[in-house]
Amino acid sequence: MEKINCQGCGIPIQTTEADQAGYTPESALDRDTVLCQRCFRLKHYNDIQDVSMSDDDFLEMVSQIRDKEGLVVHLIDIFDAEGTIIKSLPRIIGDKPVILVGNKMDLLPKSTNRRKLTQWLRSEAKKAGITVKDVYLISSVKGHGLSDLTEAIDRWRNQQDVYIVGTTNVGKSTFINKLIEQTTGTENVITTSYFPGTTLGFIEIPLDDASAFIDTPGIVNKKQMAHYVSENDLKVITPKKEIKPRVYQLNSQQTLFIGGLARLDFLKGERQSFICYFANELAIHRTKLQKADDLFREHQGELLSPPDEDTLRILPEMDDHSFRLDSEKNDIVFPGLGWVTVPGSNLTVSAHSPKGVRVSVRNSFT
Ligand code: GDP
Repeated sequence: MEKINCQGCGIPIQTTEADQAGYTPESALDRDTVLCQRCFRLKHYNDIQDVSMSDDDFLEMVSQIRDKEGLVVHLIDIFDAEGTIIKSLPRIIGDKPVILVGNKMDLLPKSTNRRKLTQWLRSEAKKAGITVKDVYLISSVKGHGLSDLTEAIDRWRNQQDVYIVGTTNVGKSTFINKLIEQTTGTENVITTSYFPGTTLGFIEIPLDDASAFIDTPGIVNKKQMAHYVSENDLKVITPKKEIKPRVYQLNSQQTLFIGGLARLDFLKGERQSFICYFANELAIHRTKLQKADDLFREHQGELLSPPDEDTLRILPEMDDHSFRLDSEKNDIVFPGLGWVTVPGSNLTVSAHSPKGVRVSVRNSFT
């Protein structure tokens, strides 16, 4: 195929992978103006769709804008902050100011302490070397928090462009579509002249005569659980509604299985409650630690599901890490699945998760 670039965003056009940047169906190549599907939808339906790109490709692509001025809005999924904070962000964007936005707040229980959550997000960002100007908690689906956020964006952007970045599945398209509704409501929102001759793959949504929202392709983070499960299982593990905490009283030497995708062994300590925050549809099983290995070997994919058959083919083997919990009230976080809050102290647990999706511990914000 001769090399063609999208006349909306400049990305090289390809006709084979529908969820990747630059895709357009072959039949659309005959049109006078060739647009990638993402630009086409935006132009004709005012509807943006996310496409993905590897971290390295992304890095190369955005290096062209590192030195431009502007504000970065980094959208993450509050339910999978570890998996969706982009660790390479400082390398990618240089020293532009950043607003960190935790999306999908509607999934967290009402008891969530927003101040603690915000603090924790700030510190996670800092660990990744990202200095954030502000943290906002929103729900794109419900529209919660959007007006405060757009006000903040307007304050911080200083009449410059606003780059929206995030990994795939954080809700970037839902968010931007809401912004489009609010800010433009007009047709033909993509401009073609902004980065002439470059191959960026960025879509622009004009804010005023001189500046725009710039939507970037979603970065793929290979450490996200989402990459190791089938589409069906992803539906099961992704919460759709507010999470109902499930409480288990455990003695030491007992184990909780989260489906067959993760496991928490209570090794040492006084009897405690273990409060589980996972999608309401995801089954949790309690068993004796002594029996846990056998149960897992014999019943992963059946009684302990997900994984389904498709997931079992791609799921890495389990890896375990022990944690000693000394302070009051910790969350043991299984990235992409959820977490278990343990209110007590002086205990030892061992957490098992697929290799590459590493479990961590944080101070609880619930
Ligand atoms: P993108 O890949 O980052 O563009 O993400 P999408 O906008 O396609 O959203 C990914 C999934 O998350 C979809 O199933 C959305 O319905 C869902 N989603 C997006 N925003 C929210 C939100 O605020 N709350 C909840 N519960 N789900 C959301």
